[in-house]
Amino acid sequence: MIPVDFDYYKPESIEEAARLHEQLDRQKMLPLYYSGGTEIITLLRLDLIQTKAVIDIKAIHECREHILGEDYLVLGSSLTLTQIEERNAFPLLTSVSKEIADHTARNKITLGGNICGEIFYREAVLPLLLTDSLFVIGGPQGVKILPAHEAFQQTMQLGRGEFLIQTLTRKDFLGMPYMSVKIRQQWETGYPLVTIAALKAKGEIRAAFSGLCSFPFRSKRMEDELNRKDGTLDVRMDRALRHIPAPVLNDIEGSAEYRLFVLKNTLTDILTVWEVEQNA
Ligand SMILES: Cc1cc2nc3c(=O)[nH]c(=O)nc-3n(C[C@H](O)[C@H](O)[C@H](O)COP(=O)(O)OP(=O)(O)OC[C@H]3O[C@@H](n4cnc5c(N)ncnc54)[C@H](O)[C@@H]3O)c2cc1C
Repeated sequence: MIPVDFDYYKPESIEEAARLHEQLDRQKMLPLYYSGGTEIITLLRLDLIQTKAVIDIKAIHECREHILGEDYLVLGSSLTLTQIEERNAFPLLTSVSKEIADHTARNKITLGGNICGEIFYREAVLPLLLTDSLFVIGGPQGVKILPAHEAFQQTMQLGRGEFLIQTLTRKDFLGMPYMSVKIRQQWETGYPLVTIAALKAKGEIRAAFSGLCSFPFRSKRMEDELNRKDGTLDVRMDRALRHIPAPVLNDIEGSAEYRLFVLKNTLTDILTVWEVEQNA
């Protein structure tokens, strides 16, 4: 049971959603955009968020689009993770997404909800950061398009009343070699101890991480160290790990020391496979 009442709105356009948000905000209704609802309902049940109105964005056409166009793959923010996996236009995203929660939950969880949610793992953002994707954002000032690394810095950088409409990924990234590995403390579903998503773009390695720090990230400095031509893999790895951008999590899921151990071994395995392939 949800212990509070709230109003439910289902606008059919970006403008209507933004207008509603402004109006409800003025009325102190603490409006929230609502996509899959899994997190909102859970947090309302636990009395961890307050809202008197939710704005369901699933009836907005652009939020449901899934188009493989001439230059870009367009993914609407209200697509569920299973819809994205079934179409499999973006294999790295499929690979990361398939490891989030279980199939039943992924039938509800949406791309936008995962990226914009409070639960800090936000693993679906990793492939989008690695592929220099663009984020289409709507709000009271209209629609804007930002590079993923600007729109997402530790969390989604959304202004008041703004919401994620779509992501755009250049098609040439979709076929590049990739690997993703999620290591959990135990069980087959659950939050990551460490998730690594890696892409090989024009011979250079790109890597992004979730579960390591209290936010998902891609670090150019780490990538630069990994791509250096001097030093053994072990040395390059040690140099790269010096650039982890924040303290490594040290919690019930695993100590910082253990996370680093797992990170180093897993990343070494990925890079070894790629280096062996390259030298074959
Ligand atoms: C059983 C279970 C296991 C999980 N395991 C993992 C895991 O291993 N890794 C992981 O990364 N996550 C995991 N999660 C977290 C889960 O991915 C997020 O809670 C979920 O993705 C939220 O998606 P949703 O579509 O239901 O969002 P909602 O509940 O609709 O929204 C969540 C938040 O995002 C905001 N929001 C939603 N869509 C938009 C948008 N388009 N623009 C702006 N704001 C928006 C809402 O206002 C709200 O604040 C798990 C969740 C469950 C239930």
